[in-house]
Amino acid sequence: MRVFVHTLGCRVNQYEAQFLTEALTDLPGNGELHVINTCTVTGLADRKARQLVRRLRREHPQAWVMAVGCGADGSPQGLLRAGAHLVVGNRDKARLREIVTGYFHGESPQFADWPDLSGEQVRGPFPRARALLKVQDGCTVGCTFCRAWRVRGPLRSKPLAVARAEARALARNGHQEIVILGINLAQYGQDLPDRPSLVALLAELIKIEGVRFRLSSLNPEGVTPELIELFSKEGKLCPYLHMPLQSGDDQVLKAMGRPYTAQEYRERAQAFLKNVPRATLGTDAMVGFPGEDEGAFQPTLDLLGELKPLNVHIFRFSPRPGTLAARLGNRVESALAAQRAQRLASLARTWSSEVRAQFLGKVLHMVVEEAKPQEFTGHTENYIPVRVEGAAPPRGTIVPVRLVQMGEEDMKGVIVHR
Ligand code: SF4
Repeated sequence: MRVFVHTLGCRVNQYEAQFLTEALTDLPGNGELHVINTCTVTGLADRKARQLVRRLRREHPQAWVMAVGCGADGSPQGLLRAGAHLVVGNRDKARLREIVTGYFHGESPQFADWPDLSGEQVRGPFPRARALLKVQDGCTVGCTFCRAWRVRGPLRSKPLAVARAEARALARNGHQEIVILGINLAQYGQDLPDRPSLVALLAELIKIEGVRFRLSSLNPEGVTPELIELFSKEGKLCPYLHMPLQSGDDQVLKAMGRPYTAQEYRERAQAFLKNVPRATLGTDAMVGFPGEDEGAFQPTLDLLGELKPLNVHIFRFSPRPGTLAARLGNRVESALAAQRAQRLASLARTWSSEVRAQFLGKVLHMVVEEAKPQEFTGHTENYIPVRVEGAAPPRGTIVPVRLVQMGEEDMKGVIVHR
């Protein structure tokens, strides 16, 4: 069987796409199977999944088309109506090989309980420079705008020994940088018998030779003094934190169900930036949440202006069916939300330039991601995008570069030969 895995959405989905690709290798049969790993974070994501189902059915009329993942849980009927032969939610995604094999033999899928994460492991290599390692799934925070926690099931963490073995396999397969991810990494370990913390996990992983580790996204609750201490003394942890803020206004944070205040966010971000050498910060900000007036938007600009993140992912509030936030009154007009997003984006560009300028003339270590003729690009340990002229070293390797010039959104570097 020829198998194609298409993926939409976040990095957790990208990890799971790799898992599905490995799990469906050598699937017996002669036909063609397309698996779409769907996302339901916004209405647009749901629409994209349905469009992809329709397109694949049209362009490959003989092929099987199956939709799996968050969108399959969030809007299964829409995917079936679009033409998917089978829709499999997150609970059963890791058993897809078994389910697909049964389906081809005319059996109806038998749905199981949520599996623990021990069986969900990848070997790599990933088709990209960095490997991904999912160590956690599920979330019990219950943010009022979010659908992820509704479709991702109960809290599940990967035991330390399993995560370590998986990271070793990825390093053996040539990856020099591994991104640690989960739906809510701050809750890592809470469901395991001895409740290991994320810090304990990282302390184990950094013992592996020849690879550095990056955290994908970590909510402020997870940025503890112990985590900051480990980052401050351990060069194998990339000194960049993507810590979602969403809003700098306490009333809005409360209405969002976010479990921290703006001041708590400020203190944790400042502690990380102050104590970790070469540290930079990335964040998410949601504009136009119901009830966000001008007075509630300004604190977001003020707080981020103090912290100067390297990058800001800006989202406009999108009411998701079934969420509490979708039922809130006091909606912000979409033109106004767009205007706020633009104001924030323009400031974010300035902050990013200011942060990058601090590293002019410094030597950092970039992972080689994309090679173009006579130029290659990648990101440094603190996530500055870099462009280097010349022939590219092998993709995925880490090379020392001196940052010599500012670009619009990146920096120019030259390789340092020691
Ligand atoms: S922390 Fe909030 S936004 Fe993140 S997955 Fe949990 S509920 Fe969703």
